[in-house]
Amino acid sequence: MMRISADRDRCIGAGMCALLAGSVFDQDDNDGRVLLLDPAPATEHTAVREAVEACPSGAITLQES
Ligand code: SF4
Repeated sequence: MMRISADRDRCIGAGMCALLAGSVFDQDDNDGRVLLLDPAPATEHTAVREAVEACPSGAITLQES
């Protein structure tokens, strides 16, 4: 089970998350900040882990159980 949260206040709109895991993350059309599409994805776990690593602002938090 994977649980994701994304802190829009920390996000700097770099877009790595949406590039790496496009079914889980998107970017707001207005400010470019992260939009969390799926906080508990059943798939794309490897891509989500890569997105957490790649995020330059540490805005994505991941819990796995
Ligand atoms: S990778 Fe991080 S900083 Fe970039 S859009 Fe996603 S959450 Fe925001």
